[in-house]
Amino acid sequence: MNRPGSPGTQPGPERTLPVSTTGTAPADVGIAPAAPASPEEALAELYAGNRRFVSGAPRHPNQDAVHRTAVADGQHPFAVIVGCSDSRLAAEIIFDRGLGDLFVVRTAGHTIGPEVLGSVEYAVTVLGTPLVVVLGHDSCGAVQAARTADATGTPPVGHLCAVVDAVVPSLRRAAAEGVADIDGIVDIHIAYTVEAMLGRSAVLAAEVAAGRCGVVGMSYRLTAGEVRTVAGVPARTVDAPEPAASAALA
Ligand SMILES: [Zn+2]
Repeated sequence: MNRPGSPGTQPGPERTLPVSTTGTAPADVGIAPAAPASPEEALAELYAGNRRFVSGAPRHPNQDAVHRTAVADGQHPFAVIVGCSDSRLAAEIIFDRGLGDLFVVRTAGHTIGPEVLGSVEYAVTVLGTPLVVVLGHDSCGAVQAARTADATGTPPVGHLCAVVDAVVPSLRRAAAEGVADIDGIVDIHIAYTVEAMLGRSAVLAAEVAAGRCGVVGMSYRLTAGEVRTVAGVPARTVDAPEPAASAALA
């Protein structure tokens, strides 16, 4: 497979996905010496950046004019972030990264239509990005809107229906599991999105099966600023709390 733009990436069956990682993060140097080339390294780098953000000591790496010029000729993002569009969930801020680091696709409730899947597949297969993250958060308005529409039987107007319809399967799963609180439903929706992405994208599933890419679901807390892994592989780092019981792919 042609994988331009992935220096350091070693595609091939020799790279395997572990079921867990040591959680050992790179040194807190602000700018990674090289782009993470494996799912585990990419996940550790995201956690390292999130820790800097949470602690109030972000380094704002790769946001200077020199780096801007350096990445103008090509991008080598080490993670795809499929996140909710919520204005408080800006990926480069909460993971303390900069230009060229993250390939970000955002929709309300991190719903995944064809354009989203195509964007993910582009990053993974053309740019060689080794990790895909589904990023949800507590108090998600899209999940709440779906819950309200489902409870009242009143569909929202316009194209918001598409967002609600995409969340309804997660509501059904939550009900089946006896989960009623909004944040518990959010975590189930994150895990559902990970599964749905792998189920609908044969391209992505093949990359994961070959060990070239990982897919994880992360849940973000708006007040604390922390992320935790709730689904997917690599499963989690030692810095992350236990995954939700609904994490079917862990
Ligand atoms: Zn949201």
